[in-house]
Amino acid sequence: MMDLYKEMWTSKKVTGKRFCQCGSCKAHWENFIGMELKEQNCSAKGCTNRATVGGHIVSENYPEGYIVPLCDSCNQSDESFEVKPNTGFVSADLSVSCEEE
Ligand SMILES: [Zn+2]
Ligand SMILES: [Zn+2]
Repeated sequence: MMDLYKEMWTSKKVTGKRFCQCGSCKAHWENFIGMELKEQNCSAKGCTNRATVGGHIVSENYPEGYIVPLCDSCNQSDESFEVKPNTGFVSADLSVSCEEE
């Protein structure tokens, strides 16, 4: 898991459709981490904004990606970024994290 912090991630644009049974990426993250997402800072290294959304981020080595707290502007950005060392990663692979019953 430690190499997650060395990856270059990009935000995957989530189109209107429901992410999973949690209802949203934000709820999905909160269900697994057990904290409120709005109390977190944006996970993108160098960004000082508060997190507002659960961002679906993907990288070359982790194409299925993860959900991490992001601010709106990082979530909309096409730039790749590293994440902060204390980031809570929740798998976006629903078969391991959030399978439909
Ligand atoms: Zn979920
Ligand atoms: Zn940000």
